[in-house]
Amino acid sequence: MGARVGREATSGRVVGVEEAVSILRRGGLVALPTETVYGLGASALDPEAVARIFAVKRRPRHHPLIVHVADADHLPGWAEVPEAAWRLAERFWPGPLTLVLRRGPLALDAVTGGLATVGLRVPAHPLTQAVLVGLGGGIAAPSANRFGHISPTTAAHVLADLGDEVDGVLDGGPCAVGIESTIVDLSGGEGEAPRVLRLGAITPEAIAEVLGREVGSSLGAQATAEGERALAPGQLASHYAPRARLELWPREAIGARASALVGARVIVLGDAELGVSAESWARGLYAALREADARGPEVILVPVPPPGALMQAVRDRLERAAAPRNYM
Ligand code: AMP
Ligand code: MG
Repeated sequence: MGARVGREATSGRVVGVEEAVSILRRGGLVALPTETVYGLGASALDPEAVARIFAVKRRPRHHPLIVHVADADHLPGWAEVPEAAWRLAERFWPGPLTLVLRRGPLALDAVTGGLATVGLRVPAHPLTQAVLVGLGGGIAAPSANRFGHISPTTAAHVLADLGDEVDGVLDGGPCAVGIESTIVDLSGGEGEAPRVLRLGAITPEAIAEVLGREVGSSLGAQATAEGERALAPGQLASHYAPRARLELWPREAIGARASALVGARVIVLGDAELGVSAESWARGLYAALREADARGPEVILVPVPPPGALMQAVRDRLERAAAPRNYM
């Protein structure tokens, strides 16, 4: 491996696919577009590069990262691949689904946080696909934001958060889905029901249908096979949070709540910012929260999302964004 990429040489530059590949090869960090959110990527085979992800994000070291690969054929080596994983990969990849599997020899402790499992995904964005094909290996990438804050869904969001600490940003436009991938844990083997660890655009029902069996869920902090608590970021009570206090209210109560907050600077989000479909809420949520936050309010009021599977995933993010921040 050649010289590592110096921070000052490369402050928050927008780069193309070839340069992204070469930065990753040299142990640098590149922000990459995916259909979910922008990821902060490093070569998953380079423990020093992976360590920099944690430093730049200010992310606690024990939180595992998702490894992104070009296609399902790359799975062996990274993980033990049960039949159920092949079926889900066939149906949903490339796409917003992460599989947690028992780790293989390629999965470093730096990536898995020392767990016996590894999270794997094939993202759909053509630019990131091209980078994965060019690199040939895996890219470890959490969301490209400071730990606990709002995930980025545009290159500008990444530059605003991490600008001079990332060696390159690949600008792929706004993310099509807008919230993080669904995570399903298949590491329990045939004998154990698959468990959804994080809600996303691929619904538990769709997963159950492909697998022909019931799917459980474990959306809070879960116990691992080793009996330790795996503190997974998407499972922390407080995450995805703006600076302002975020409050969720039933749509019909929002006006009264806004009036009750006399003297406070309040921003109310509604259909104008979020649209009416679940897809538009998911796609626009993080940008709307960032824009509202940038106006410096004390409180952001958001209506409770209407029912529906994707809205449930949006609601999950909003509840974590609204949770009190005394979690660590
Ligand atoms: P982020 O990419 O920042 O959204 O966070 C990565 C997410 O992947 C975390 O929230 C974890 O829940 C999940 N994850 C990655 N690897 C594992 C694993 N081995 N076991 C459980 N969850 C994982
Ligand atoms: Mg994140």
